[in-house]
Amino acid sequence: MNKRLGILGAGESGTGAALLGVKQGFSVFVSDAGTIKDQYRDQLKAMPLTWEEGQHDKDYLLRSDLVVKSPGIPDSAPMVRDLREAGISVISEIEFAGQYTKAKKICITGSNGKTTTTMMVYFILKNAGLNVGMAGNIGDSFARQVAENEKDYYVLEISSFQLDGMFGFKADVAILLNITPDHLDRYDNSFTKYRESKFRLLQNMKSADHLVYYADDKEITNELARRKPDMQLYPFGFSGPYEQGAWIDDDIMKIVVHSKEFNMSIFDLSLQGKHNAQNSMAASIASRVLEIRKETIRESLSDFQGVEHRLEPVVKVHGIEFINDSKATNVNSTWYALETMKNQVVWVVGGVDKGNDYTMLFPLVKDKVKAIVCLGKDNTKLHDVFDDIVETVVDADNMNEAVRTAYYLSEKGSQVLLSPACASFDLFDNYEDRGRQFKEFVRNL
Ligand code: ADP
Repeated sequence: MNKRLGILGAGESGTGAALLGVKQGFSVFVSDAGTIKDQYRDQLKAMPLTWEEGQHDKDYLLRSDLVVKSPGIPDSAPMVRDLREAGISVISEIEFAGQYTKAKKICITGSNGKTTTTMMVYFILKNAGLNVGMAGNIGDSFARQVAENEKDYYVLEISSFQLDGMFGFKADVAILLNITPDHLDRYDNSFTKYRESKFRLLQNMKSADHLVYYADDKEITNELARRKPDMQLYPFGFSGPYEQGAWIDDDIMKIVVHSKEFNMSIFDLSLQGKHNAQNSMAASIASRVLEIRKETIRESLSDFQGVEHRLEPVVKVHGIEFINDSKATNVNSTWYALETMKNQVVWVVGGVDKGNDYTMLFPLVKDKVKAIVCLGKDNTKLHDVFDDIVETVVDADNMNEAVRTAYYLSEKGSQVLLSPACASFDLFDNYEDRGRQFKEFVRNL
């Protein structure tokens, strides 16, 4: 009899896992407690499997041999608990798909910069002519690509929620960008648990595999010193030189891999800012490890177009520059945004606070922020924190009002920065909706 595969959640990862499950001969049951999007429902209907929505048929699911869970469903969900208690292994879609591909996997995790770095590495490998796919939190799911269109290389953006369901998966090249507080609500408010989750990326890696990591991040270096992983190590950061790795020396980015050096002026990088220098160093090391030509890396990094909603310049209106950083959903990413700004910023911040500690922003805010527009349903905390530091702190409860107020408060030569440091669900569908509304109202000014 066929093995039974249960799938929790019918989004991109669940539907991809269903496709791959069917292809691999499983008897597949897809269960989504919410409403399935039309595009995925249509795909499920076209496959030889059973599915349900608006509920979980517990008895049916408990008969599964294996369950793939969407990263959106927390481990604490009753259905997940019941499955685990029954001894059924519950894994993530990346873990599942990883079992059916021989491709080399370049895997990127961290609290911030995953999408940008994933797209950078993909862009370089593609320009080098490799048969490469990009998956994880981006675009088509890994499982779907493995099922439909197998590649030689995959660049995978891996979130901690995916990592929590990964056990046997092995990365060939791993990039660990940074570990700063985020999503602690899903980790019993324990930063240690969240860090442990990020380090799962290293599990199963062997001495011939490669770990690229940000060496100025104490959370990472302390943990590495404790674990002493036996693998090829490539630190990157601003405190080099390193024997192998990447650093910045007098505005020159230096990459050393296998004793060969590659240099590039940081002014030739298309994405500016300290955080993008970090992402570029990480992407360059990974590419050199895969023996991509220096010229290809250089050209790719100077052509690479930024990613929407990540410090995205929108337009200048009467000498005021508007920047959309809607993807900044935690304090650390907003720190980098403020760091990149020149003086005189009107900062649009707020939304659903994930237990934010804003202290690290104080020096930058004092130095650069002239006015704050709080954009959230409940702005009390922002007022408590910033009223004493910034002269003007005002409220807005929709994007139109936020944009108009910010415009009114700014002068020629200043910058209006949407970098919320919070999730978006109080007033918007998601961060993309928030960013798009920002751009639309700015363009209508
Ligand atoms: P992720 O996929 O990890 O959320 P993104 O590339 O989407 O990362 O960027 C999220 C936010 O973090 C953006 O506001 C971006 O400007 C900022 N950011 C990008 N790279 C870094 C980095 N290396 N360190 C800190 N913040 C970063």
